[in-house]
Amino acid sequence: MFHHFHDDRVHSRAQGSINKDDLNNIIKFIGKDNILDADIFLDKIKTKKIKNNNLCLTFDDGIKSQFDIALPVLEDHKIKSFFFISTSVFDGNPDYLEIFRYFRVNFFKNVNEFYNTFYQEIGKDLLFFFKDKNELIKSKKIKFPFYSIEDIKFRLVRDILLNKKEYQEIMFSMFKKKNFDYEKISKKHHFNRNDLIKLDNLGHIIGLHSHSHPTLLEDYNYKEQKEEYTKCQSIISKILDKPKNQINSMSHPCGSYNEDTLEILKGLGIDLGFKCVMTVEKEKGMKKINNSFLEIARTDHTEILKKMKG
Ligand SMILES: [Zn+2]
Repeated sequence: MFHHFHDDRVHSRAQGSINKDDLNNIIKFIGKDNILDADIFLDKIKTKKIKNNNLCLTFDDGIKSQFDIALPVLEDHKIKSFFFISTSVFDGNPDYLEIFRYFRVNFFKNVNEFYNTFYQEIGKDLLFFFKDKNELIKSKKIKFPFYSIEDIKFRLVRDILLNKKEYQEIMFSMFKKKNFDYEKISKKHHFNRNDLIKLDNLGHIIGLHSHSHPTLLEDYNYKEQKEEYTKCQSIISKILDKPKNQINSMSHPCGSYNEDTLEILKGLGIDLGFKCVMTVEKEKGMKKINNSFLEIARTDHTEILKKMKG
C-alpha cells in the first residue's frame, strides 16, 4: 500500500513519503516476478485462484506525486497497479484530507508541533481523554505499527473526541491564522480527469475509495455509506467512459468499514476490496487476515522498508 512520494522539487517530503529509488528498491526486494498485474490479481480473486503468496501494488487517494513519481517507475518495470480514488475533487469539492495533510507538513516544523497547535486550538485539557483511551492507543499501535503514538492520539481526538464538523472548523480556523489558500493547493496535488484516463489507457485499474473520504466511514448509516460509494462509482465510470460494473475494485478509506459497507459493495458489483491492516480484527468478527474478497489485507510500504533494513 502506497500513498505519498517526494522528489524534492515539485513534491515535498511528507510523513512516510518515499522517492523513486525507494520504490525501485522495494520492487527489487519483493521481486518483479512475485508482483501480479492488477487485472491478473483481480481475475484470480474472481475465479478463486488466488494464492497466499500472490501480491500486487496499490496506490490510494489519487495523489499527484503517484502520477509524477511512481508511475514512471511502474511503467519501467511494466507493472500494472491499482489506483483507488476518492471522487469529491471531481465534483468541485476539494479533498480536505489531503489539504489537511499538506497544511500539516508545510506550515509546521514537524508533525508534533502541528498536533500541539491543534490541541491548543481545541482549548480543552486532553489529559483525561488520553488516559481514558490508553488501552485503545496500545491496541491501535499493534494494528498500525507505521503510526507513532502521537499520530494515534491525534487520530483519536479527530475521530472520537470531535465530530467531522468540529474537526474541520478547527482546521479552517488554523488555515486563517497561517493565511493558507487551500483551493489553489488542491488542484495541484490531485489527479485530474486526464490523469485517470491515462492510467486506465495504460492498463492500470482505477477503483473506488469513497466519494468524500470519511476518516471513520463505519460511523455512517447505511444510506450515507451507500451514497459515498454509489457517487464514487458513477463519477469514475463517467470519467473513464466505461460501464459502472467495470469499476469493480476498491479500498476502504482509513481501513474503515462494517457489515453495511460490505453489503453495499456487493450490491454495486465490487469484486475486490482492500483493507489497510495485516492483523485479524476480532472485534469485526474476522477469522483470518484476508477475511473475504472485500477484505484483502495490505501492508504499508514503510513495513517493507523496515524488513529491507533487516
Ligand atoms: Zn485514503
